[in-house]
Amino acid sequence: MPACLDFSSMWVYPGAIARKGPSCVLKIYNTLSGQLEEFRPLNDGRVHMYTCGPTVYDFAHIGNFRTFVFEDVLKRYLRFKGLSVKHVMNITDVDDKTIRNSGATEPKKLREYTDRFSRAFLEDCKNLRIDKPDLIVHATDHIEDMVRMIQGLQAKGYTYEKEGSVYFKISNFRDYGKLSKLNLEEIKVGARVDVDEYEKQDARDFVLWKASKNGEPYWESALGPGRPGWHIECSAMSMKYLGETFDLHCGAVDLIFPHHENEIAQSEAYSGKPFVRYWMHGEHLIVEGERMAKSKGNYFTLRDLVAQRGIDPLAVRYALLSVPYKRQLNFTFDTLRQADSSLKRLQDLMLRLTTEALRPGTNDKIQALMIEALQKFEQAMDDDLNTAQALAAIFDWVRDLNTTFAEKSLRQEDRAAALQTMERFNAVLQFRKPLELHLDDRVQSLIEQRNQARKARNFALADQIRDQLYELGYSIEDTKEGVRWKKR
Ligand code: AMP
Ligand code: ZN
Repeated sequence: MPACLDFSSMWVYPGAIARKGPSCVLKIYNTLSGQLEEFRPLNDGRVHMYTCGPTVYDFAHIGNFRTFVFEDVLKRYLRFKGLSVKHVMNITDVDDKTIRNSGATEPKKLREYTDRFSRAFLEDCKNLRIDKPDLIVHATDHIEDMVRMIQGLQAKGYTYEKEGSVYFKISNFRDYGKLSKLNLEEIKVGARVDVDEYEKQDARDFVLWKASKNGEPYWESALGPGRPGWHIECSAMSMKYLGETFDLHCGAVDLIFPHHENEIAQSEAYSGKPFVRYWMHGEHLIVEGERMAKSKGNYFTLRDLVAQRGIDPLAVRYALLSVPYKRQLNFTFDTLRQADSSLKRLQDLMLRLTTEALRPGTNDKIQALMIEALQKFEQAMDDDLNTAQALAAIFDWVRDLNTTFAEKSLRQEDRAAALQTMERFNAVLQFRKPLELHLDDRVQSLIEQRNQARKARNFALADQIRDQLYELGYSIEDTKEGVRWKKR
């Protein structure tokens, strides 16, 4: 991967400052090695990335979206570093929870139920500006791939059958536990588990294919009538689309065990090759010390926050990414309010950069400001995606640029460079609220009336109109160049 980005090459003005500074290689924490590692994709310049998608038994909550936003920032940052990314995400549309909640007795009904939540999930992603994966793959569209893989595991002696179900024999896979650092002594040899989720202390032979049960949806297959276990879907689909060995696999920390541990066992037993080179796991969104989870009832969906509390989805995105993914994030409404005011500061700067009249020419000091901000941003993100530090660099830059407006040192040609800089930050973080460049007629006319009142030295009326504008969501500032407005 290209080590340092040469930000100077992007400027519109000539003779820009050469890139200096420490080497800029992306380092990420790999759960597999337990260490911070330099990220190098298998194929030069191209990253193959798989992220575990939602289980579509209900609407996703913003805890789930903390993970999807982290993965989105990661993917966008890989692109910022000049890499191309092929991203595959699954949709779990058959498992214990989807069957329980749908009450479906056949695959078609199950799919009708889950499709509604798949659609809702993709809508929420769009509102959170989560880039769409190149491939979104549904488990129920890949039953045959899973069956073939299970047959492959059978042929290699990694499975056994019991009452029509097929289990993976974990004692036959030497490396079992290498991701979650499981103590192999604790494994209960021969004991089985049929449920999708269980704790580390209950490490058992897990189910690959579940024999059909009365009243549950099932598929006819070479393994007999039944349905796949949860873990096999990600192994079968990721290897199908990304190859038997690929670069990156992500999820939240709760997936390390058993889901990802079991994925490694199945995939490596099947192919005889290393499965994934870098595993990245995000920490949870928590509420009063506990993980936000459906089962705990302490959750908010994005749609609830938007419809019932008028919260901007971008504020949710910003709040979720503002704390580095390796640290737990405590959810509060105050965090969302602060996020919204940060977004507004950026929006104000954009408005000034877009609309204010500037003197012609350029200013070298300002070029240096842009390059410094981009370098600091890159250094922070290279450090295992330290988004908090990256945002600190951006807001220092925002403050400095505002100062250049006040000092009138910002020139016309610096404007394009500043806008490009903002665009580079935004390409990774997606925090730019749309600009409102045109005021609606009513607001425009109130501003006019206030100007008239001020000219006539009727300050009482001018203040009254200012209050009216405030109520309408606009704050007004009188400057030498005239009135400046911004959305509150
Ligand atoms: P699920 O829909 O349950 O399969 O979960 C989708 C993703 O959200 C998985 O990567 C989970 O690990 C993740 N997740 C679940 N709860 C939280 C939480 N409170 N904070 C962050 N990620 C979570
Ligand atoms: Zn998965």
